[in-house]
Amino acid sequence: MRITFLGSGTSHGVPMIGCSCAVCCSDDPRDKRLRPSILVEEGDRTILVDTTPDLRTQALRAHLCRLDAVLITHTHADHIFGLDELRRLNHLMGAEIPVYGDAGALKDIRRIFEYIFVPTQMGGGKPRIRLIEATERFLVQDLPVQAIPVLHGALPILGYRFGNAAYVTDVSCIPPTSLQRLQGLDVLILDSVHPAPHPTHLGLQEALAVVDALQPRRTFLTHLSHLYSHATEETILPAHVRFAYDGLILEIAD
Ligand SMILES: [Zn+2]
Ligand SMILES: [Zn+2]
Repeated sequence: MRITFLGSGTSHGVPMIGCSCAVCCSDDPRDKRLRPSILVEEGDRTILVDTTPDLRTQALRAHLCRLDAVLITHTHADHIFGLDELRRLNHLMGAEIPVYGDAGALKDIRRIFEYIFVPTQMGGGKPRIRLIEATERFLVQDLPVQAIPVLHGALPILGYRFGNAAYVTDVSCIPPTSLQRLQGLDVLILDSVHPAPHPTHLGLQEALAVVDALQPRRTFLTHLSHLYSHATEETILPAHVRFAYDGLILEIAD
């Protein structure tokens, strides 16, 4: 299985509009962060997690031509406002695309993207998606996916586990039942928005505490703000914890 980071940045992206800090002005390509998303590929199956406002750029960079499913973690703008870009993939594939999320996320998508679900004049084109509620375990073209309920502040959202890898972004608290579902990981991809504590995300110490509790073989921190310089801050991380960066590809053993 292969996981590609399409974006490793926080909601503003890095650089942030109008910011002239050292990280926003950095020449290190690892400090250029689009909004958070990953692509999961196993055999000929391809799954996108979240449809960020940067999806068009991300799809071009990843040479994306087909998708078996989209999984939605939650419906904050940085995670879904590129949903309309799916229509290009509908066109390439000649098929609709299943979109999985929890009941709240699917309800939000119907409201926010109402135009998709109401009859309108021909021309222009709209995404063709089929909304499916994510159960605890489901299959995407025979690939098992496990939903991992977590809290983003007070908001219940979903992380997802694929075999020995899990993607848990926008999290401030992982309930005990979900910690159970995250045992024995080769790769954990975990939110850490910035070094200090945060009301709706994990800060650095909080993220490292989760790593300590779960003991995944490798951890990649994502949803990174401009308060992390990749080169500088990575030196203080334990060797088995790294910062993600856009374009990073992970190979995951079965
Ligand atoms: Zn976010
Ligand atoms: Zn900045």
